[in-house]
Amino acid sequence: MRKPIMAGNWKMNKTPEETKQMIKKLAPMVKDANATVVICTPACCLSAALEQAKGTNIMIGAQNCHYENSGAFTGETSPAALKSMDIKYVIIGHSERREYFGETNETVNLRAKAALANHLTPIICVGEKLKERESGITETLVKYQTQAALSRIDAKDVQSLVIAYEPIWAIGTGKTATSRDANEVIGFIRSQIYDIYGEKVSNAIRIQYGGSVNPSNVKELMSMENIDGGLVGGASLTAETFGLLACYDI
Ligand code: PEP
Repeated sequence: MRKPIMAGNWKMNKTPEETKQMIKKLAPMVKDANATVVICTPACCLSAALEQAKGTNIMIGAQNCHYENSGAFTGETSPAALKSMDIKYVIIGHSERREYFGETNETVNLRAKAALANHLTPIICVGEKLKERESGITETLVKYQTQAALSRIDAKDVQSLVIAYEPIWAIGTGKTATSRDANEVIGFIRSQIYDIYGEKVSNAIRIQYGGSVNPSNVKELMSMENIDGGLVGGASLTAETFGLLACYDI
């Protein structure tokens, strides 16, 4: 019922030229993908990505946006400018933004609302640190992060956005949550959405798993009933690997 979404997060990698080369190579590989295919490039590569992705089924996303459309915010990216470029998706609240750039649950909420106001689809990241998992507070924490991120966002918008459950200890480490654990936490997030917004929204919202997804674990992860795709870092950097991930069910 829900269309899976496989999104690549290139982080701070690739030049505009490298972006074009990779999208050119990737496009024929993913043309029959059943999942929505998204590449989130660095801001300086968005124009190149959009140009190269024209006429393909690859959607282009940004990795962050500010909560104001314009103003004195040096180094930030305007959601209105992203919209004007025809960007469709934007990652909000990635753990690296939270850890290195002072992103908080409050700013994640503000940024998500600004993205929605500009008709961008936010991919909102939540997830626990290893210590938090070990102390048994994973559910409490992701519940809090999810509720805070969605605060004062109405049901119609919640239904259309994407949540990425990314256990921080699994990002870029080669450690993957077991498919059962990932499915369980994602099911828990969905149950929270159900409690607040009801059945229609909880059935519609797409919730991805992120954390060392690669060609050898993708099928198992994606076979779980609650997991609606992946947010992929390292394995999204080459057409060979990301092509396989996007076409995991073909
Ligand atoms: C990420 O950057 O969101 C991520 C999940 O990275 P990786 O796939 O490399 O763990």
